[in-house]
Amino acid sequence: EITIEFKNVNKWYGDFHALKDINLKVHKGERIVICGPSGSGKSTLIRCINHLEEIQEGRIYIDQQELAGSEKQIDNVCREVGMVFQQFNLFPHMTILENLCLAPVWANKLPQIEAEKIALKHLHRVGIGDQADKYPGQLSGGQQQRVAIARALCMSPKILLFDEPTSALDPEMIKEVLDVMVELAESGITMICVTHEMGFAQSVADRVIFMDVGEIIEEKAPYEFFNNP
Ligand code: ADP
Ligand code: ADP
Repeated sequence: EITIEFKNVNKWYGDFHALKDINLKVHKGERIVICGPSGSGKSTLIRCINHLEEIQEGRIYIDQQELAGSEKQIDNVCREVGMVFQQFNLFPHMTILENLCLAPVWANKLPQIEAEKIALKHLHRVGIGDQADKYPGQLSGGQQQRVAIARALCMSPKILLFDEPTSALDPEMIKEVLDVMVELAESGITMICVTHEMGFAQSVADRVIFMDVGEIIEEKAPYEFFNNP
């Protein structure tokens, strides 16, 4: 079962050809790591999956539905896709619980009580159930990133995208975030991670995709990738 499909996708930023004829099929439950040098289009590729970037040519399908049409149609498709960024993007003047309930209440029209129940469940899942009433500034970077993961989970996505989720973290906090990602990977959710954490790639990925100058230049199972450099 194909969950994400790119068909001949091209994207330009002005004159700059950022994605060159990308073809990609991701199966349900597959865990993909995308690596490659800075500026090779990794971030652009995954941002297209939840329509943070628009493409100029080609088609993208999420669960057989094309990511195109009216704003409402696009929103509906994107609802299946959660994303975690390098920066945590939490609202500093809101508590952790308030941050997590924002989208479920306003976008999904969930009752506040229900949203809080779900938020607490996911905060526990990422190991910080006791931090719900704190403000982001009171948490470490690793804890804030786990909040950001919980926030994505609160929308019950079928697909989770990670864009260098550990790059802004101090070394001692990287492991606590990777541990949560490993656990999510084991839960069977479809994951695409842009990361330089090769240990994570090796132990978790079903497939490693290597990009360079806007192209997918190689796709391999991790054991092939790491044994034949
Ligand atoms: P990566 O994630 O592999 O570092 P990106 O997808 O962020 O690469 O960027 C790919 C290329 O597109 C880079 O050369 C970058 O400068 C360029 N780029 C990214 N975003 C924009 C933008 N909003 N406007 C113009 N160029 C951009
Ligand atoms: P990353 O490589 O981690 O994706 P970048 O530092 O390349 O991040 O880009 C950070 C932000 O700046 C992104 O939102 C991207 O769209 C924007 N950006 C990157 N390159 C350019 C560029 N050449 N012109 C305008 N915006 C850019």
